[in-house]
Amino acid sequence: MNEPDFDPQPLALDSGRGNAMTVDVEEYFHVSAFEDHIDPREWATMPSRVEASTDRILSLFEAAGVKATFFTLGWVAERQPALVRRIVDAGHELASHGQNHARAFQQEPAAFVADITRAKDVLEQAGGVAVRGYRAPSFSIDRRNLWAFDALAEAGYTYSSSVFPGHHTAYGMPDAPRFAFRHRPGGLLEIPITTADLGLRRLPCAGGGFFRLYPYALTRRLLERVTRAEGQAAIFYFHPWEIDPDQPRISGLALRTRVRQYLNLSRVESRLERLLRAFTWDRMDRIFPVDAPPETASA
Ligand SMILES: [Zn+2]
Repeated sequence: MNEPDFDPQPLALDSGRGNAMTVDVEEYFHVSAFEDHIDPREWATMPSRVEASTDRILSLFEAAGVKATFFTLGWVAERQPALVRRIVDAGHELASHGQNHARAFQQEPAAFVADITRAKDVLEQAGGVAVRGYRAPSFSIDRRNLWAFDALAEAGYTYSSSVFPGHHTAYGMPDAPRFAFRHRPGGLLEIPITTADLGLRRLPCAGGGFFRLYPYALTRRLLERVTRAEGQAAIFYFHPWEIDPDQPRISGLALRTRVRQYLNLSRVESRLERLLRAFTWDRMDRIFPVDAPPETASA
């Protein structure tokens, strides 16, 4: 195997720029854990819920005075271009979650390049702004597909937020730096999702199912360890379907998938309202130096 070198270069960052609030804009039926239950050809016939939920998120952010980064699926942007426009007009950063929610490490390089290129085109046309950031579906960049960082740079992206730097049943890169790094000198900027360092293990503390699982106070305490004790920027993420308790339920799921998907959906919106006011949040591109081109960046 001609595997690209993994020689991570941690990025020195001025502290005090705040933390990044991010949203992965997708439908409730795009979730990777449903891939054995829903044929993508059925997506177009399923009731769409993403627009209403994302509009509620825009209202929550406006009320709290928060700007954020929206990693949006090209599939959604093709069908709801007006929603993409509203995200941009509200002052948020538009970024890419790929076109069809295919996990990066399950694609051949050529298919991955086609997916990220199309998503970037679709989003830029819908939003009328340049798209620089990418988040892989289900944090699907790890030791299996480091080539994806170079593919993203060649497609015109300047940063990624696609690595979970810990252990998980479906993904993860436990030996990756916990904070922003380039995978080799001059490589693409990667901004991993935030984990708390508990010594023997890294605990996810920055959104998704863990935000629904943990009591709010635990999430807050773990994030404070990162932002105050370590002086680092936290990266938080959630999905529009996580504030939509009335979404149609997918039948036939394994118990673990069902719990991960539907646990505490009704609590997310009020927890978010508290979280938005407990920390300082901003767009990814205002916290990290995403303008530095990957090939010329100094380590
Ligand atoms: Zn996703």
